[in-house]
Amino acid sequence: MSTQTHDAIVIGAGFGGAACAALLAKQGRKVLLVEKNNLSGGKAMTLNKKGFTYSAWPVMGAPVQENQCQRLIDALGVQERVTLTPSEAGSYYKTPAGQYEPMPKMDGSVDPVSLLGWLGIPMEEFENAMGFFGGLISMEPAQIDALEGTDFDSFIKAAKLPQSLYAFIVSLCLDGMFMVPVDKLDAAEAIYSLQDIFLRGGGLFCIGGYGKLSDACLDVVRNNGGQVMMHTRVNRILVENSRAIGIEVNGKDGSGNEGLQQFRAPIIISNAGIQPTVLKLAGEANFPADYVARVKNLVPSEALLGYRYFLKQPITDKGFGVVFSQTSPWSTQRLKDAHAGKASREGVLYFEVPGNYDPGSAPDGKQVVVTGSFCPPDPDMSKEDIQAWADAGEEIFFGLFPEARELVEEKDLYTTRSVSNATRDATMPGTGGETIGLAQIVGQCGKSKPSIETPLAGLYLVGCDAGGRGIGTQQAIMSGFNVAEAVNQALRG
Ligand SMILES: Cc1cc2nc3c(=O)[nH]c(=O)nc-3n(C[C@H](O)[C@H](O)[C@H](O)COP(=O)(O)OP(=O)(O)OC[C@H]3O[C@@H](n4cnc5c(N)ncnc54)[C@H](O)[C@@H]3O)c2cc1C
Repeated sequence: MSTQTHDAIVIGAGFGGAACAALLAKQGRKVLLVEKNNLSGGKAMTLNKKGFTYSAWPVMGAPVQENQCQRLIDALGVQERVTLTPSEAGSYYKTPAGQYEPMPKMDGSVDPVSLLGWLGIPMEEFENAMGFFGGLISMEPAQIDALEGTDFDSFIKAAKLPQSLYAFIVSLCLDGMFMVPVDKLDAAEAIYSLQDIFLRGGGLFCIGGYGKLSDACLDVVRNNGGQVMMHTRVNRILVENSRAIGIEVNGKDGSGNEGLQQFRAPIIISNAGIQPTVLKLAGEANFPADYVARVKNLVPSEALLGYRYFLKQPITDKGFGVVFSQTSPWSTQRLKDAHAGKASREGVLYFEVPGNYDPGSAPDGKQVVVTGSFCPPDPDMSKEDIQAWADAGEEIFFGLFPEARELVEEKDLYTTRSVSNATRDATMPGTGGETIGLAQIVGQCGKSKPSIETPLAGLYLVGCDAGGRGIGTQQAIMSGFNVAEAVNQALRG
């Protein structure tokens, strides 16, 4: 067994862990970053195959302006190697008559008048709808914070909006940003992000894939005296005298011998998720019983699964899109019924087409379209359930692009098992394949969100489960900034 000392050890190179490690290293801390995969980026990782470069699943950045990814790029000074780019949305409203109506072109922010026209909202409903938009966009932080603890469905239903506008806000905007049923979604969390996309735009991508950003973070660690161990799983967090003091991994020592290795640091930061960190890596015996009970009861977000279609010729010139209908919003009951086969599994469909915002990411004349549609987060769903959920998404995709059927050269299915294997261990039954992390539902947001500091001295949480707000990639990076600041302060004593 070998023993080494660092200022801080970060477990996991997802967006939260990679950002935090790089920020600490940039500020002169000696950091060890340990990642179980060969690739960085966790849930925002980028894959390569047969000349294509693509997100493992659709990952759309928002807002376009004041995005946390850009904040990180600027803080690390990696502008020369990481470039973000906006892309025009190719979203569709499937009308009750079954027509796919393309979203009107909007520049940067949402234009309510063309939006209401697209959604077929009658003139007599305009005033109410415009009033709702105006009120939402101009809400002050104190007013928004006062809605913490209220579910978004109660908030929006009070406005008595036409169903197509309700579906646009809930399904096109919120289902994908938070991946939780609208009757559980925390209203404050939702409104902050709606303001973000309505005022600052949606649809921001990274040239070469978002993995470029996490890779740049890893290089900042290496270039500032830190160490990065890829393809190395942390088995446990070492605890002594009620303090986290290090980690144990399976790996090779300096002489290339395989075996258990230990690394020590006064601060351990885990990006592995709160449940895996507390219940598995550190072990529940090291925490107060009420904290363990709370951790066990935390609810994950729902999940996406879908196909990556490798096409012999392009079917769209848009970089991404969302397809929704008046019946696509997900409520708790509808999800439960759909999973039991008692209600339609047709919800919202997301697609990302990297070749349209990054021409170098696909071989000439070809296109990869990465799709995703809702399902529960359980990585151990039966084959039949997986197929039924995947079929529901595929039906929408081929409904929208019927010509694609003949153009598919190859298609890969990713599932909740793929997401769990690539990112988070399933510690509690039915968890691991979640899209975001902790669900941003009432009781798990704002003041009720777990703290970045755990009751075990020296152990911090980074990523979507603590320390951030907003959509997945945004809250992970925001958490990275907040944890880096707190850890720096702790190290200064
Ligand atoms: C299908 C899908 C679609 C999405 N779409 C969007 C989108 O459109 N927009 C958006 O903003 N967000 C989207 N997200 C969400 C977003 O990608 C995530 O919320 C965010 O990237 C999570 O970052 P994180 O830092 O919390 O952790 P993760 O990404 O979960 O990273 C955790 C890292 O820790 C590593 N790790 C775990 N355990 C260990 C261990 N024991 N030892 C070593 N390493 C370990 C993992 O391998 C992983 O790299 C999507 C996610 C998915 C899955």
